[in-house]
Amino acid sequence: MSNKTKRFILSEEEIPHYWYNIQAEMPNKPLPPIHPATKQPLKPEDLYPIFAEELCRQELNQTDAWIEIPEEVREMYKYYRSTPLVRAYGLEQALGTPAHIYFKNESVSPMGSHKLNSAIPQAYYCKKEGVTNVTTETGAGQWGAALSYAARLFGLEAAVYQVKISYEQKPYRRSIMQTYGAQVTPSPSMSTRAGKNILTRDPFHQGSLGTAISEAIELATTTPNCKYTLGSVLSHVSLHQTVIGLEAEKQMEMAGEYPDMVIACFGGGSNFSGIAFPFMRHNIKDGKQTRFIAAEPNSCPKLTRGKFEYDFGDEAGYTPLLPMYTLGHNFRPANIHAGGLRYHGAGVIISQLLKDGFMEAVDIPQLETFQAGTLFARAEGIIPAPESSHAIAATIREALKCKETGEEKVILFNLSGHGLIDMAAYDQYIAGNLQNYSISDEELAASLKDADALNT
Ligand SMILES: *Cc1c(COP(=O)(O)O)cnc(C)c1O
Repeated sequence: MSNKTKRFILSEEEIPHYWYNIQAEMPNKPLPPIHPATKQPLKPEDLYPIFAEELCRQELNQTDAWIEIPEEVREMYKYYRSTPLVRAYGLEQALGTPAHIYFKNESVSPMGSHKLNSAIPQAYYCKKEGVTNVTTETGAGQWGAALSYAARLFGLEAAVYQVKISYEQKPYRRSIMQTYGAQVTPSPSMSTRAGKNILTRDPFHQGSLGTAISEAIELATTTPNCKYTLGSVLSHVSLHQTVIGLEAEKQMEMAGEYPDMVIACFGGGSNFSGIAFPFMRHNIKDGKQTRFIAAEPNSCPKLTRGKFEYDFGDEAGYTPLLPMYTLGHNFRPANIHAGGLRYHGAGVIISQLLKDGFMEAVDIPQLETFQAGTLFARAEGIIPAPESSHAIAATIREALKCKETGEEKVILFNLSGHGLIDMAAYDQYIAGNLQNYSISDEELAASLKDADALNT
């Protein structure tokens, strides 16, 4: 291995000029999002009060497979893209596996995660359409940080609602957002009607992405020239993230291999979509048989144990009704450290693809993710985000299967971010203070009651 190439990067010209819109090529299109009041399928115009108009059109575009990346956005991508594709010789050796393991290293962006890939175009389209203020929610703080920086790049003001538990557990992410000039509020807060209602019902509510989304949407729809942005779940976010997989496709070619498996962690699905969809198009169109594996927390198992039905994207019910695998919009995820994976729903594209058998999902207990993250850090030098460690754990499971069977499978996983701002979580793991959480069928059924009622 000593004289073999370990790291594959692209020239600026090879950075993709188009994003890939899998909706146009899916055999079964996602069911339409529905307006909660009229119960009619959503039109792009229905979303204009919330999002930049171009993003609304991208959201519902089921006809164009390729959407051009604006030159201004590509220019910003060039500051950190292409991200490296790395052959994980160290991890292979540590596992003693014959599998060839590659990872796409999205942790090299200035934010330390993949989130900037969509924050840049979202801020760009807002600016282009005359918007002056953007709002959003954030869990662990990765998306809030990315949006705060992207807003700064295009001269917009950013207001971020951060899930309260993360605001308290991850103070540095708040400082990062504030350093970029954003206004940060822990959610649920008393600054919105949605927040007040939640706190009246439960004064000790720890917050969830669902509560923070409700507050951010309320602020956007009640403030002039202000739009809401979302870091995951929606189809336009997945679209922007395909820059990851499109690069990886060229880089795997440089390595002379094609993946048998593509693996990513799963919160709302954006980094999974980003690395998977460009390869999945060859399963759909060219008969390739790559396996696509989404790795979710055992304590927030929407893909493996959720129900496919219409549900809200947020706790207060401000979003359209989305047809997706869900745990119920008022699901209360356990306080695991992978804050970015604590979301109740899976988004419409992924949900259809899972239903149609184009992908698989596995759920992973918290302790296994930290074991995997620690092993990876020792083998490859990069301390992974607790979210990304779910992908690493799923990769290790598959690589160990290869060890048993002696198969030289090619595994590609997405390293969605580094964990250097999550060291408090590693501290707790080292001290033996972390635990696994799981939920019972009864808890699950109770949490789905409100969603079920929307489907009758
Ligand atoms: C936000 C985040 C995730 C989860 O979001 P997805 O939309 O599912 O990709 C995963 N990893 C990191 C590092 C994140 O910041």
